[in-house]
Amino acid sequence: SPGLYIVATPIGNLSDLSPRAAQILREADLVLVEDSRVTARLLREAGSTRPMAPYHDHNADRVRPGIVARLAAEAVALVSDAGTPLVSDPGFKLVRDARDAGHAVTTIPGPCAAIAALTLAGLPTDRFLFLGFLPPKAKARLDAIAEVAAVRATLILYESGPRLHATLTALAEGLGDRPAAVAREISKTFEECVDGTLTSLAARYAEAPPKGEIVVVVGPPGDAPRIAAEQVDEALAAALQRLS
Ligand code: SAM
Repeated sequence: SPGLYIVATPIGNLSDLSPRAAQILREADLVLVEDSRVTARLLREAGSTRPMAPYHDHNADRVRPGIVARLAAEAVALVSDAGTPLVSDPGFKLVRDARDAGHAVTTIPGPCAAIAALTLAGLPTDRFLFLGFLPPKAKARLDAIAEVAAVRATLILYESGPRLHATLTALAEGLGDRPAAVAREISKTFEECVDGTLTSLAARYAEAPPKGEIVVVVGPPGDAPRIAAEQVDEALAAALQRLS
């Protein structure tokens, strides 16, 4: 039926495309995409031959009114290159305008790198704050970090390999040395999640920037670093010594 369909797509493993997402991609009158080369592969995988049209930061304002007008009679699906549309990706204004115009808006939930990383990190999940990409410039980045330093929640950030070291260093400076994890290439062949503290992770990634796509997860203030099993005796002995 007509309306806007927000369709989550895999973040690396094509098997994560849900049957319902595939069905919408086969039946939509139009599929709005960030990059047609990326989504062409997905549509093939889903057995879809539906037409694509670009919807990205550079043309969104221009094409949005025309798309909204079509929603009365047509089913339009929005996808991004990977994961959940609208999460550090275009789409929120399209949803807003579609709703304002009284059109049906449906979501087909699925992969999202932020939530996937949160489930890997072993850090508290009861309260979390998603920060997207921090500003690239040093001063703006430190300001953005200072703004959230007192928030009692796990922080989730997107980052690229080349900037990871600078970001971890800035986070350590602005937040103190909190427990943290770097999740990389989630759902792909070389998926890994490295945990430590902000300074130990900054040191680890100082030499060679890691390849692939990255999510940084930072524990809330006051969350004690986890102690490895082999360090427990040592920590107990030290604590007893302090008591005596
Ligand atoms: N909308 C997407 C989502 O729901 O996750 C995010 C889009 S954002 C432009 C792309 C960023 O997401 C990447 O730079 C990286 O930080 C993160 N990301 C995407 N896929 C990932 C993966 N497989 N593993 C780790 N991080 C990933």
